[in-house]
Amino acid sequence: MTLALDSHTALNPRSVSGDRLRKLVVERTGDPVLAHEAHVVSQVLPFKVSSYVVDELIDWDRAPDDPIYRLTFPHRDMLEPEHFAVIEQAVVQGDRAGIRKAADAVRGSLNPHPGDQMSMNVPQHDDIDGSGMQHKYAETLLVFPRQGQTCHSYCGYCFRWAQFVDQADLRMAVSGPEAMTRYLDRHPMITDVLLTGGDPLVMRTDLLASYLEPLLEPEREHVDTVRIGTKAVSFWPYRLLAGPEADSVLRLLERLTAAGKHVAVMLHLSHVAELQTDVAKAALARLASTGAVLRAQAPVVRHVNDDPRAWADLWQAQVRHNVVPYYMFVERDTGARPYYGLPLARAYDIYREALQQVSGLGRTARGPVMSASPGKVVIDGVVELDGGRAFALRYLQARNPQMVGRPFFAVYDEQAQWWDELRPYGPRDREFFGGLS
Ligand code: SF4
Repeated sequence: MTLALDSHTALNPRSVSGDRLRKLVVERTGDPVLAHEAHVVSQVLPFKVSSYVVDELIDWDRAPDDPIYRLTFPHRDMLEPEHFAVIEQAVVQGDRAGIRKAADAVRGSLNPHPGDQMSMNVPQHDDIDGSGMQHKYAETLLVFPRQGQTCHSYCGYCFRWAQFVDQADLRMAVSGPEAMTRYLDRHPMITDVLLTGGDPLVMRTDLLASYLEPLLEPEREHVDTVRIGTKAVSFWPYRLLAGPEADSVLRLLERLTAAGKHVAVMLHLSHVAELQTDVAKAALARLASTGAVLRAQAPVVRHVNDDPRAWADLWQAQVRHNVVPYYMFVERDTGARPYYGLPLARAYDIYREALQQVSGLGRTARGPVMSASPGKVVIDGVVELDGGRAFALRYLQARNPQMVGRPFFAVYDEQAQWWDELRPYGPRDREFFGGLS
């Protein structure tokens, strides 16, 4: 199958999803088993891949081991074996209602909203619809524009995967910009607004502007910083390169920076391959020309970037293209973690060894960081204390600001992959775990 582009000026690319996945994998890899298994997993976890990723990023001679293939295409190990078996049986029987029922049940067991996002972060006001916003830290408001709750392609490890499945009760989306502005006007302590998703750059520029231009009004002077989370440079760089939609989004960013806002484009970059095409480099240059600051973040995950050299190459390429390395995250406890997750100890080793291979300008990424329910916790090291081994930890952000920046310790656990598997090392560490013993 050829995925010729209609036009590089399109707002969104042609993409492959649904039943066309199987055909594409067979055609490109010649492996019907791989294709069947990907099809089974895609009944549970969302799949979509853009023409750009298929034609210009994936090295099909290396598939399935190509890192961008691993990033975007489903694999049977993304599901627990018993879940895979149930879904496969329904697929083989060809019963759509049965597939749907089984898939919904499996999704419910995959912790679709990690970190208590739905229960603790959504603002509660009688007269403002807070669904589609998150206010976890005092100074920052996350906004999920309704029309931006998809991406040009989907990452297999996405912790927001529940946004993209056909289950409305799992989705976060704000009803419109009015809910955001009313909430901001009620909370003048908010200095940072982050538009997120999904990917806000899947939206038409006029829709994006309907969220961003109100931030220029005098009532919202307290909003200093506008952040836009996106993976468009990796999945559809033409969004920033060609045609009226590309030009208008750059003008919009320029209006914000000219008005004195700090505009941070939070690029999601997982692997250096995403920065090696001419179109990706050109998209970065155009973004930087608006006065926006480009920062990059991604989780460290198996099969894609679980290698210090991969991170060193990525950070060096980022610096070369005016992108500031910002975060190395830990894969969250949701979705396809059986496939992508790494022990915290391994994540820390990768981070440390990668740092050793780059100059100071490449060492700005903080990591490995768990964005957990109580806050963002960075692993600062593995230390020997009183004859015992411990993780040295620190909150970079916390629901309770008193916790930020103070070192604390957890019992070292070679297998632990997430915050909730850690235990306080000593009595003085309990307060950081909410009083756990
Ligand atoms: S680009 Fe971001 S939001 Fe979209 S699928 Fe990937 S990780 Fe999820």
